Amino acid sequence: MRLILLGPPGAGKGTQAQRLVSKYGIVQLSTGDMLRAAVAAGSPVGMRAKAIMDRGELVPDDVVVAIIADRIGQPDAAKGFVLDGFPRTVPQAAALDRLLAERGLKLDAVIELKVDEGMLLARIENRVREMSARGEKLRTDDNPEVLRERLAAYRAQTAPLTGYYAAKGQFKALDGMAAIDEVTAAIDGLLAPAAGPRPKAKKPAKSAAKKTAKKRAKKRVKKPVKAAAKRAAKKSVKKPAEKSAKRASAKAAAGAKSRKSAKKASNTARAGRKAERRTLRRSRG
Ligand code: AMP
Repeated sequence: MRLILLGPPGAGKGTQAQRLVSKYGIVQLSTGDMLRAAVAAGSPVGMRAKAIMDRGELVPDDVVVAIIADRIGQPDAAKGFVLDGFPRTVPQAAALDRLLAERGLKLDAVIELKVDEGMLLARIENRVREMSARGEKLRTDDNPEVLRERLAAYRAQTAPLTGYYAAKGQFKALDGMAAIDEVTAAIDGLLAPAAGPRPKAKKPAKSAAKKTAKKRAKKRVKKPVKAAAKRAAKKSVKKPAEKSAKRASAKAAAGAKSRKSAKKASNTARAGRKAERRTLRRSRG
């Protein structure tokens, strides 16, 4: 998931970006945060950017483009990122297109949080007053005068990006003045198609008992088929046996018959011999 959040300072980009980070497991890339870190570290980039930032103007394109080019190539950005505060000019947007194309990456959406400037100014002035009253540390550019300057820079240099991305069919606008949760819900609604189908809820793991019962039921269904196959196999084995049995009994019957007739024949022969002996005795006597 790769996104751009557009909107003037104070529109709530940072808050929504953090929610997207936890929801999609992506990283938030805020050029403002990176520049403030560079200022705090006293790096050459920080030293170059400090005075510009304090006036509420934009840091030169080449500086921020170099920061982003380095950052999106780092491993933690591989899963995706939400750009917050970048790009801020059309040349920065064109540079980003090139950076993404070189890496074979695409943007999923460009979302603008639309706000009413008059209300925004009142909101930020109020926040600055409250923070000062609590003794909290303020950003050096978080005061009404510099804020006016930052809003002017947004109008002149950043607002044209809506046309740039609309022409590419990637632009979507939302009401950034709504309650924070409502804005989050609206962003979720916009991203749902890009985020793809929700992962299917996992089926509860089958218990071992259920698994065995299913196996048994399968076996029961299989049994008749198996039994029929067994019977068929038996039949085919039996056939020759039956045949030979039949043949054997026929043979036995035939044997019995021939034994009977042999007995009859021997009886007849015995009777013949008896009669012969009788005739002999008579002729002698
Ligand atoms: P932000 O925290 O995004 O409001 O940024 C604070 C300040 O950092 C801005 O007023 C600019 O001076 C500078 N800055 C942040 N991002 C950019 C950018 N993409 N291009 C130029 N300047 C930037």
